[in-house]
Amino acid sequence: MSRPTPRDDLRALEGYHSPQLDVDVRLNTNESPLPPPPAFLDAWVDALRATPLHRYPDRAATGLRRALGASLGQPAERVFCANGSNEVLQTLMLTYGGPERCALVVEPTYALHSHIARITGTPVVAIPRRADFTVDPVALGAAIRDHDPALVFLCSPNNPTGTVDGPEVLGAAIDAARGLVVVDEAYGEFAERSAIDVVDEQRALVVVRTYSKVWSMAALRLGYCVAPTWVVEELDKVVLPYHLAAATQTAGTVALRFREEMAARVRELVAEREHLLAGLDRLDGVEPLPSGANFVLFRVGAAGDRVAARTVWERLVARRVLVRDFSAWPGVEGCLRVTVGTRGENDAFLSALEAAVRESGAP
Ligand SMILES: *Cc1c(COP(=O)(O)O)cnc(C)c1O
Repeated sequence: MSRPTPRDDLRALEGYHSPQLDVDVRLNTNESPLPPPPAFLDAWVDALRATPLHRYPDRAATGLRRALGASLGQPAERVFCANGSNEVLQTLMLTYGGPERCALVVEPTYALHSHIARITGTPVVAIPRRADFTVDPVALGAAIRDHDPALVFLCSPNNPTGTVDGPEVLGAAIDAARGLVVVDEAYGEFAERSAIDVVDEQRALVVVRTYSKVWSMAALRLGYCVAPTWVVEELDKVVLPYHLAAATQTAGTVALRFREEMAARVRELVAEREHLLAGLDRLDGVEPLPSGANFVLFRVGAAGDRVAARTVWERLVARRVLVRDFSAWPGVEGCLRVTVGTRGENDAFLSALEAAVRESGAP
């Protein structure tokens, strides 16, 4: 038998790497440390009982779009929902990308932007962030004019660096781009600025959000974007019919009744982030970077020292604490990323880190 091979352009593709180890303290994937409120579960299950499971779900997710639009101060017609924001990103690239066009990213950033671009056959142009991980608006504008990308990806707060873009970055992208400007705001609720308010019919701007982080619903796979209606209409044609399960739609709608609880959690996690930053700041040989998200990137040892960071990561695992290893990642070499957890998890992490750093410093 001859084994059929995948597409030629996918030959060099690697899968998504993020080891899931069995540990006590899991601070590696930027999830919420808390499950959704019990009252949410009750309300969701009640809504599920009333759902006719032998029928296809509402293809347009009308109720969910309406509820999201109302909560965001945008018309329902500007909302598109999918199975996680990753499917939103994929649908955007299937619709606006392709081999004759390109997508522009500013590295280091969320790996899935360029990964999904490649899967959809869209060439990727990458430009670097500044040394402090902010985006240079002048360089961004120049790169957009040079390459004329069909999609420009911004990520604010940026994963994995935590950097929040100033308004001049979005302004530069919108002024220069003839294609879509996509702002991934997976962590938007943790930051003080959002681009959602400036989405209208006149700008080719799309803001992508998720229920996976703040909304404690990573297991349910629900994300959405806010975009001009003329973009949403195109996405609706490309995405598979009935792609969003009734249970997911219902969860997303019911969750919005718990906005107050979620806002309180955001405040709590932001306070915990500051606690983590202060704890990291106190450790010798550890340098945390400013963050507007629910995670903190930190350098271990001298800048770019991959071995020190990898060694500390392994020592944390040995102490049953899992963070994300970015020690060999282009642009963030020598860094690890810790997700903000509960006070107990954060303190367990900080004392494990203190011990790990001390140990690796020993001869
Ligand atoms: C976590 C994350 C997402 C979320 O993906 P989902 O598919 O919604 O779970 C999207 N973008 C970024 C930058 C992220 O870090």
